[in-house]
Amino acid sequence: MAYLKTQEEQDAILKGGLLLGAILEDLGKMAKPGVTTLEIDTEAERRIRAVGGIPAFKGYAPSGHRPFPGTICACVNDEIVHGIPSDRVLIEGQILSIDIGMQYPAKSGLGQGGNGFFTDTAITVPVGEINSQARQLLSVTKKSLEMAIEVATAGTSVAEIGRVIERYIEPQGYGIVRDLVGHGVGHEVHEDPAVPNYYEAYLEKKLLKPGVVIAIEPMITVGDYRTDVLDDGWTIVTDDGSLSAHFEHTIIITEDGKPIVATLRPSEK
Ligand code: MG
Repeated sequence: MAYLKTQEEQDAILKGGLLLGAILEDLGKMAKPGVTTLEIDTEAERRIRAVGGIPAFKGYAPSGHRPFPGTICACVNDEIVHGIPSDRVLIEGQILSIDIGMQYPAKSGLGQGGNGFFTDTAITVPVGEINSQARQLLSVTKKSLEMAIEVATAGTSVAEIGRVIERYIEPQGYGIVRDLVGHGVGHEVHEDPAVPNYYEAYLEKKLLKPGVVIAIEPMITVGDYRTDVLDDGWTIVTDDGSLSAHFEHTIIITEDGKPIVATLRPSEK
């Protein structure tokens, strides 16, 4: 698998990523009391197809899993990632994480299988008014992603990304999920390298280079970092039932300076 993306590939990733970022921002605004996660999912698929993309997660079936049924992963409160959209109604005071991936453009001839490139992005949003503990969790998780993006420059090791997140998060007493990590992205939803949100010494030797495209995605918990899987085979939850938040961006490493945030949302510009 190509570790570096060509300029043409990077351009397609950026174009698709910005479309996806705008879609995700709108989906986040739908998270209101009384709305179901399936309603948000239906809108997500409609929007992706309207811009000429393909939902990347729908039908995704790694070995041992039934195909993922949703366009988004929808996770409420203690659910960390891979939550299945359903007719469950959102309730005031909850937090909802929406993770979304898109292959873009459909049938372009670019990328493997001729269906464009993958981008991957996530946010966690409040459902109505949330308490200060939840608000703080969202703020800290988002900040850790921003700090990680800041250091993701050419010549820096992949280990540095995890180190920065860990150094910021751990002294504040939050947990960093270890069973799931960021990843290379582009030709596939998940590519090499793994990008942990904690320090891994072996990644000191893995240097970021211009043209590397990775998804950084800290998953932070109020309590312990340990996880469990629900009976649906997909939904990963905190083992202790504590709240969890997740923010993710697909970024492109540049020749010099800060990376390009491919999935930047309109409100972040
Ligand atoms: Mg991801």
